[in-house]
Amino acid sequence: MTNEVTAVGDAALLRRACDTFATRFGRAPAAAACAPGRANLMGDHVDYCEGFVLPVALPFVTVVVGSHNGTGQCNVLSAGQLSQEASFSAPTPDAPLRPGEPAWANYVKGVVANFPGRVRGFDAVIVSDLPMGSGLSSSASLEVAVFTILEELEGKKVDPVQKAKLCQKAEHEFPGMPCGIMDQYVVTLARKDHALLIDCRSLEAKHIPVNTGDTAILVVNSNVKHQLTGSEYPQRRAQCQEAADKLGLPSLRGATRKDLEELKRQNCDKLVLMRAEHIIDEIHRTEQVAKSLAQMDLDRVGEMFYQSHESLSTLMQVSCPELDQLVDIMRGAPGVYGARMTGGGFGGCVVALVKKGDVEGLKSKILKNYKGSPTFFVCEPSEGARALPIK
Ligand code: ADP
Ligand code: MG
Repeated sequence: MTNEVTAVGDAALLRRACDTFATRFGRAPAAAACAPGRANLMGDHVDYCEGFVLPVALPFVTVVVGSHNGTGQCNVLSAGQLSQEASFSAPTPDAPLRPGEPAWANYVKGVVANFPGRVRGFDAVIVSDLPMGSGLSSSASLEVAVFTILEELEGKKVDPVQKAKLCQKAEHEFPGMPCGIMDQYVVTLARKDHALLIDCRSLEAKHIPVNTGDTAILVVNSNVKHQLTGSEYPQRRAQCQEAADKLGLPSLRGATRKDLEELKRQNCDKLVLMRAEHIIDEIHRTEQVAKSLAQMDLDRVGEMFYQSHESLSTLMQVSCPELDQLVDIMRGAPGVYGARMTGGGFGGCVVALVKKGDVEGLKSKILKNYKGSPTFFVCEPSEGARALPIK
């Protein structure tokens, strides 16, 4: 069926990257690495509140190939979707890297700047089959893929949790996005056929087998991204912190529904109260979904998907008409257990649990009724970042 997207696969992407590298730099690359995108099954906007999240890695990946070039320059070509090259000096103690133009290169520079140890000049080519800016975390995928190839090139392995934290720091400092830890963590540590229950306070995680039998995890891309002012995400983060401060807590992770009464008593701003309510319930839902998924209680998981979407839409106010419409179309359709927006919101994707035999019927229903142009893929939980052997 049209509108179905399939992963190109890391082997084909690797060949493409090596060919492009040879054409551009006139030799073969010495190392290669890849990192996946992700879809979150439950727990949105809670990672920066130290809550629980439950993402899976996707079969869609960013592949990076590269070699040292014996100079002090880093030359990075993003082939395919973007087709742009950026050059910057390898950092030295006297001349640290700074963010700048082009904007996309900040994701690469941030990682180079935060890599623990010396980074020598290199040439690199990036290829990816992840859509950019669709809420599937192409940004963390790019950061972690670059970090992984630097590990290969510099011969220095970094502890994976530390690696995720350094990539998060890179995104904070260079593109200037105050993201939580979920994306970099799952992109680094995911395991095939498992979701990852991440405790964003302790930074410990549990691999939860996803064995949904005759049920598919269907991701529907709304193919819209509302730019708004770009300040919504930092604003949500600040509102959640304000609620935690009022309660004398380091984050909303420690809060309960009772604390909502306390916030009301303090005449807390209405929006801050709404954000707190979402976070408290969403953290609880994530733990429940992890349990229900392990017990194969998909009816319960589906119910919580809908509750989560409602909460993200009305309390957190990070949905948009297109995502709401997709969830409405899916609600009550044959074989659908539940659906919710996934990721930061304001566009991007919806994730749903659907009986495999009903997927095609559901797609037709969406194509007929959704006002935009959706794309679909059935999400097989995939492996995290890895070095790729090159022959
Ligand atoms: P998401 O992470 O959900 O895809 P973001 O807005 O966080 O959306 O990140 C998207 C940005 O990441 C792009 O606009 C671009 O700057 C950068 N990016 C991601 N993948 C690539 C790539 N393959 N080449 C160059 N830049 C990329
Ligand atoms: Mg991102």
